[in-house]
Amino acid sequence: MALKEGRETTFRESVDMMFERAAAHIDISPGLKEKIRICNSTYTVRFGVRLRGEIHTFVGYRAVHSEHREPVKGGIRYALSVNQDEVEALAALMTYKCALVDSPFGGSKGGLCINPSDWEVFELERITRRFTFELCKRNLIHPSQNVPAPDMGTGEREMAWMADEYKRLNSTDIDAAACVTGKPLTIGGIAGRVEATGRGVQYGTQAFFRHPDGVKAAGLEGTLDGKTVIVQGLGNVGYHAAKFLSEEDGAKIIAVIERDGAILNDAGLDIEDLKGYISATGGVRGFGGGTYHEKGSEVLETECDILIPAAIEGTINSTNVDRIKTKLIVEAANGPVTANADTVLLRKGVAILPDMYANAGGVTVSYFEWVKNLSHIRFGRMQRRQEEYKANLLIAELEREIGKPLNDKFKQEFVRGSDELALVRSGLDDTMRDAYNAMRSIMDENSSVKDLRTAAYIASINTIATSYSSLGL
Ligand code: GLU
Repeated sequence: MALKEGRETTFRESVDMMFERAAAHIDISPGLKEKIRICNSTYTVRFGVRLRGEIHTFVGYRAVHSEHREPVKGGIRYALSVNQDEVEALAALMTYKCALVDSPFGGSKGGLCINPSDWEVFELERITRRFTFELCKRNLIHPSQNVPAPDMGTGEREMAWMADEYKRLNSTDIDAAACVTGKPLTIGGIAGRVEATGRGVQYGTQAFFRHPDGVKAAGLEGTLDGKTVIVQGLGNVGYHAAKFLSEEDGAKIIAVIERDGAILNDAGLDIEDLKGYISATGGVRGFGGGTYHEKGSEVLETECDILIPAAIEGTINSTNVDRIKTKLIVEAANGPVTANADTVLLRKGVAILPDMYANAGGVTVSYFEWVKNLSHIRFGRMQRRQEEYKANLLIAELEREIGKPLNDKFKQEFVRGSDELALVRSGLDDTMRDAYNAMRSIMDENSSVKDLRTAAYIASINTIATSYSSLGL
């Protein structure tokens, strides 16, 4: 695929090109294909907030890509770089992501052009509440129409403000808590949501290593144990992915790239220590557990088994793709590889776990949170003690039969009933395995589909096309 008019494609063009590449494998009418591809609407709002003695105008967006299922779902990003092209690309990815992992939502995304660190917390709250009000007025925040969530620059705190503002405007809505996800646990959030995207990256990578064919095709072998990993961006997603992969799967994080440079350690970085250091100092420079390298972009090109871009879109593009020396890219961020770079990487035989799969853990657990809010009961509340009671009964009977006690550690594990966190993890792991299998079976059935991204798009487009057809379109 050539560069578009001699330049790198925009994010939205990249998503469209990848969509078209996949759609070419599907027997679908041009009209329906276009209906699925285009972004239904984008609302731009410019609102003023009186702060520091004057009125400041902020620009925000909420793009709705597809309403084949409602509510539509997707995060709200706070960054100065937010623009219409970006939110529309991200909204499209949400549509495809939700279809791939079977979350019953259409796709949406929002953003506010703001650098959160320019503002005091109480100021951010006023800005967020005003933005929420503007979106609520148009049902762009609503439990059954449009359900935002955290994204870059936002988290539990912003979701709590949004939920509270919605509740204030809709005081009789019994389902108000379901108007946003990613809320703190105390106001209707769900256990495991904060780390969900990182967890999904881990489960998705585990799923990849469960299929020896794909592992071999990427020039890798064995399991995740001992694999060398470079992570770009130690924000919420990168941090949790790096932590789980190193602490639980034995992967070695040999480099972390951050805004002020990179930290390298061939023996593997201690992610918990590094995260603590970044939180305390604002960067990686001076961290004692590794060697500092000022040029993060060079470290991205260092040889490794797995590269995890977990920051922003377009990190791997036509300017650096030729120097990328990894065997597997796990797209923890949305859109980290441009369409042009993707084509080059495929030619080089680099395997890619595409964004719409690799970072789908967030929206998957958001789905669980939304269901929890609508059912007004936490997961596991009814069955947990019942499970424990039955397990104890079985153990007592077994011990009586064999005439000696069973191992204490086994008993503890076996008896423990499922609490909300255990159920969320189980549901997420199941989702990631199923979605991986869906991509693999498309590749198995159609030998001309050679990469997981095209397979992921095909799976999504098929699902959305079926939805539209059953709506009579
Ligand atoms: N912002 C996250 C994403 O890009 C989560 C969206 C959600 O939970 O709705 O997938």
